[in-house]
Amino acid sequence: MPRIVPIERLRNIGIVAHIDAGKTTTTERILYYTGKTYKIGEVHEGAAVMDWMPQEKERGITITAATTACYWKDHQINIIDTPGHVDFSVEVVRSMKVLDGIIFIFSAVEGVQPQSEANWRWADRFGVPRIAFINKLDRLGADFYRVLKEIENKLSIKPVAIQIPIGAEDQFKGVVDLMEMKAIIWLEETLGAKYEIVDIPEEYREKAEEWRAKMVEAIVEHDDELMMRYLEGEEIPVSDLKRVLRKATIERKLVPVLCGSAFKNKGIQPLLDAVIDYLPSPLDVPPVKGTNPKTGEEEERKPLDDEPFCGYVFKVMSDPYAGQLTYFRVFSGKVFAGSYVYNATKDKKERIGRLLLMHANSREDVQEAAAGEIVAAVGLDATTGDTICDEKAPIVLEKLEFPEPVISMA
Ligand code: GDP
Repeated sequence: MPRIVPIERLRNIGIVAHIDAGKTTTTERILYYTGKTYKIGEVHEGAAVMDWMPQEKERGITITAATTACYWKDHQINIIDTPGHVDFSVEVVRSMKVLDGIIFIFSAVEGVQPQSEANWRWADRFGVPRIAFINKLDRLGADFYRVLKEIENKLSIKPVAIQIPIGAEDQFKGVVDLMEMKAIIWLEETLGAKYEIVDIPEEYREKAEEWRAKMVEAIVEHDDELMMRYLEGEEIPVSDLKRVLRKATIERKLVPVLCGSAFKNKGIQPLLDAVIDYLPSPLDVPPVKGTNPKTGEEEERKPLDDEPFCGYVFKVMSDPYAGQLTYFRVFSGKVFAGSYVYNATKDKKERIGRLLLMHANSREDVQEAAAGEIVAAVGLDATTGDTICDEKAPIVLEKLEFPEPVISMA
């Protein structure tokens, strides 16, 4: 069985926010808009969404899995549940280890709060690329531009607005997409709300030009060739701007900033587009390192299917249906349901029973999992932090490190 999507179309992401900034609402909306069960070559729409709707009222029901797989425009997005409050817990370290990118949510009213700063610095420490979503634009006192400035001043990173809001507070209607120079207007505020893409309203044109120029300047700075063309007065094509912004985001030099109102269902679809456009696939991040327990030598594993299998167990949960679910990320090679793996941390052989791919409202048996993928094993007797691998190529992935505490500057 082939992998569900090619590795370059895989995104392993976390959603991080200060409490109350809208992490739960945004996650629920993402799962709603991607609410499809996906089988190789076919997409079923409808049933999954229908099943899911009544559950939507029960808070948190969608996030009972340590990872939830969803699909957007032929890409698989695995949402890894990161602890709400990023602290010095081992949970955080483990979740940071298996995700490749983060959607960082700020409240347009409260701005960059102390906890956001602490969370941000944790992501810095683990070298995780980010995109930012300024949420709650419909709320009284919302100010996109103030929060943008706060991100720049407090988080010492260059935020690049790739959207600006149209309307504010109860008049918040949509956004200007500064890449395409089009307006995205949501037609309703209900779940499943449709939007239309129209010309930028007259009164926003000047502002949009001004912010587009800022965006282009910030991007071309990260590519000599593009900079030359820009200085020569060339109109840089959107595809080049996106390519360089992607690279600069993955290198953590820039953070693309989007905005919306998760509660009013405005902004979620472009946010999903940005996950695909700017956050890395497992191929874009450095190979994992570990130690060969036999030789003591340091080795690395690339995210390729033909490398020896190695995976990292980041969460063990008990499940009412399946018993113990052992979540792991495959960092290299492939692993098969019903096969034996070597637990290099514990120096013993273990059998994997079933392999499950967890969706928001269902679980799917898969026969194999390949590099970059995150699955849950049933019947595997491992604990969090263990490395499981091919017995012929044993490796223990780097021990969990507890970085120095970061003191919030607020
Ligand atoms: P979390 O603590 O970050 O998970 O935040 P929640 O998603 O639970 O949101 C906290 C509160 O803010 C809830 O009452 C949400 O309904 C509300 N909320 C979330 N997003 C928005 C938004 O975009 N606009 C408004 N007005 N309220 C929001």
